Amino acid sequence: MGFAIVGLSALATLAMAQGQGQPAAPFMAHQLKPNVYWIEGGGGNSGVIVGDKGVIVVDAKTTAAGGKELLDNIAKITPKPVTTVILTHSDGDHVNGLASFPAGVTVIAHENNKREQEKALAAGGRGAPPADHLPSQVISKDKESLKIDGVKLELHHWAPAHTSGDLVVYLPSEKIVFTGDIIAGGRASDPLIHGEKNGSSEGWITTVKGIAAINADQFVEGHGDVLTKADIQKRLADAEAKRAKIKDLVAQGKSLDEIRTAVGDPPPGPGGPRFPSFTQVVYEELTKKGV
Ligand SMILES: [Zn+2]
Repeated sequence: MGFAIVGLSALATLAMAQGQGQPAAPFMAHQLKPNVYWIEGGGGNSGVIVGDKGVIVVDAKTTAAGGKELLDNIAKITPKPVTTVILTHSDGDHVNGLASFPAGVTVIAHENNKREQEKALAAGGRGAPPADHLPSQVISKDKESLKIDGVKLELHHWAPAHTSGDLVVYLPSEKIVFTGDIIAGGRASDPLIHGEKNGSSEGWITTVKGIAAINADQFVEGHGDVLTKADIQKRLADAEAKRAKIKDLVAQGKSLDEIRTAVGDPPPGPGGPRFPSFTQVVYEELTKKGV
């Protein structure tokens, strides 16, 4: 769903705006290569890859209105039709804008993403994905090389990380990676892991090692700006160090509150959407396993 990390004012504002039903951040398209763009605003970042005859989109914004605005922005880039959407994960701020996409558009997602969407659809209510745009092509392998409309793509899934159904989209010719929310929130934020979607801090580290090893130089994160490989490596090193410290403290029998203080986490914020912190997720994983 949304996204909130204390201390990142732009994102926190965005998350609050979405939570309160106010207009989300404005859309803005950025060009990365002659045929590749990313579009911020209205939810998670989207990728736009212009192929020979059509357009491949990575992630589809939060609402039907956002999906429509995304399509309007794409129409300013190219008159070619959107034929394919690749979803990096199942969260509504990356998926639900599909409601405005043409019927029959191919939707590619990891098999666990589809399961998570089916579950959310069955539960119903606000935030459920559009029933008529569930993934039509599921990925079950850890690596899939595809050529879509003349564009070479690799889809990677190393382990459950942000969710159990994460897909990393890599354009080997352009050396661009779309990370989804595995990486989100800039250069210095903790990983966001959805335990309720079977995400995993250990899997996150495995996954980000994989991302850092990709031959790419532009990494479009799920929310925030484009990062360099050095930024990805720093995020990995920071998360590994923090996880190791939490593991030590758990082994010493410290409580979650003591560990939060020891690792310098800000206190849980008042109001607004708030997901369990990385510290809490790691603590719960480790104590569940009886470490
Ligand atoms: Zn997400």
